[in-house]
Amino acid sequence: MAPIVERFVSPGKGNGLRATARISRGQLVYSDRPLACCVSNKHSKEVCHHCFSRRETLLRCSQCKMARYCDATCQKQAWSGHKRECKCLCILLPRLPTDSVRLAARLIFALLSPRSCSSELYSLDEHESHLDLMSEQKKEGLCQLASMLELYIHHEVSNLTEEVTSALPPSCRDALSLIAKVTCNCFTISDGELQEIGVGLYPSLSLLNHDCRPNCVMVFEGTELQLRAIQDICPGDELTISYIETLSLTEDRQKQLEDQYHFLCHCQRCESSEEDGLMLSGEGEKCRLLKEALPRLEGLKAESNWEEMLEGCSHLLSAVKGDVPDENLYKLRITDMALDASVHLGRWEEALRYGVRTLPAYSRYYPDPHPVHGVQLMRVGKLQHHLECMEDALDTFKQAFTIMKLTHGEDHPMTTDLRMKMEECRSELDYKSSSKH
Ligand SMILES: [Zn+2]
Ligand SMILES: [Zn+2]
Ligand SMILES: [Zn+2]
Repeated sequence: MAPIVERFVSPGKGNGLRATARISRGQLVYSDRPLACCVSNKHSKEVCHHCFSRRETLLRCSQCKMARYCDATCQKQAWSGHKRECKCLCILLPRLPTDSVRLAARLIFALLSPRSCSSELYSLDEHESHLDLMSEQKKEGLCQLASMLELYIHHEVSNLTEEVTSALPPSCRDALSLIAKVTCNCFTISDGELQEIGVGLYPSLSLLNHDCRPNCVMVFEGTELQLRAIQDICPGDELTISYIETLSLTEDRQKQLEDQYHFLCHCQRCESSEEDGLMLSGEGEKCRLLKEALPRLEGLKAESNWEEMLEGCSHLLSAVKGDVPDENLYKLRITDMALDASVHLGRWEEALRYGVRTLPAYSRYYPDPHPVHGVQLMRVGKLQHHLECMEDALDTFKQAFTIMKLTHGEDHPMTTDLRMKMEECRSELDYKSSSKH
């Protein structure tokens, strides 16, 4: 693939990536394999540690009993990357290092192994650590991770500073700077349904700056990161992604960006705050009721207490009814939670009712094709399909397809899956109409 991007210095933002050619909406801009990656601890029992597929049953590494694989082939291919990690894990058992510590260790092991020359646009040495901008409290947390890292890799790399001097760039030789770089620059790897499954480092793509209405999105296929355009882009334009969930209020987005990424966002969407009014629309007292209920509901979600969560959501939604429009952000979050809970409880009709109610707000808040919108449509379509509302299902799947062929590409497994679902609906509709005659 001829490169259609180059690095440049973005005014006021430091390094960035820009287009060198015309890029049209839906085009694959860049794809990259991780320099290092790992399945997150939370999902380590459900996801293959090599190819990142989700499987019901996985083979377990007989030594550390932590790493899991689809089959012997995945295990074999993973071994060179897992060998040193496996020994370290065994020593630390039953304790498990955090995801960022495991990722940093995998990065060190990867850099210590002979590797093919890479064509990165941006080297690890140049990555920001933002240590100077961090609060004392945050630095304290990173110091703890750094000592955990040293303890964890001790068996394989007893002295980071001395042993890896040749392999690691100068600014990565102390555990604290390394862990700071890893936490600032790692990407969350998600599955097709956008559920987080791991973390990875993709150095060149760390060049991408943030925008609250970005012109590109990232989607994963296994561990491969694919950057796709969701707007038409002119040569010379900066490429942007969103570092955070864009469906939130200006104030909340800015706070999250400042806390996590240490900058103040001046994007067009932040400067105009135009959507905030709609996100907060509705009768004041009732909006407050919804807003204040969110932390408790999120707590129930974290405990997977679906029964109580659904009861809480449906009670609130009937209490506010039409006094708060469906576009209100708090109402939308609660309707989404109600959808989640009903799916977990297998209450399909209820789930469909909630799902359908979220769709107009998703269309409103995702004006460009966006994976989150596509996946939401697909969820609703699957419910309609399951409940045998074939015409509705086909219509919803078509809308999802229009988005996902741009955000995921024609060949992504999710798009293929969607195409199959549409076929199923069509043949069932054909069957029905032919059996009428
Ligand atoms: Zn696998
Ligand atoms: Zn192992
Ligand atoms: Zn912004």
